[in-house]
Amino acid sequence: MQRSDKILRLARQVFTSFAQHATGLKFYTMDCGCIYCLRVSRDGVMDYHHVGVYRDAEDGHCEACMDLGQNWGDRVVDETVVYNTKFKIG
Ligand SMILES: [Zn+2]
Repeated sequence: MQRSDKILRLARQVFTSFAQHATGLKFYTMDCGCIYCLRVSRDGVMDYHHVGVYRDAEDGHCEACMDLGQNWGDRVVDETVVYNTKFKIG
């Protein structure tokens, strides 16, 4: 699966769960293949207290991401922002 498709699929899932809390989502693709997700509020503030980590189950456990919060910004290889409006219907 393409990385961008994967992120859009994740975005759809997260917006479904947190529609009232997030206007946008910022996805960080890590060098280990995990994807981190931060919620972006209506006024553009990123919520660093709720970082979601997504990883394909078949890839197993990620040692690199066990200790979330330790300079994970250094391992970012790609960033994508997705806004909720994209998924509104009608
Ligand atoms: Zn990882």
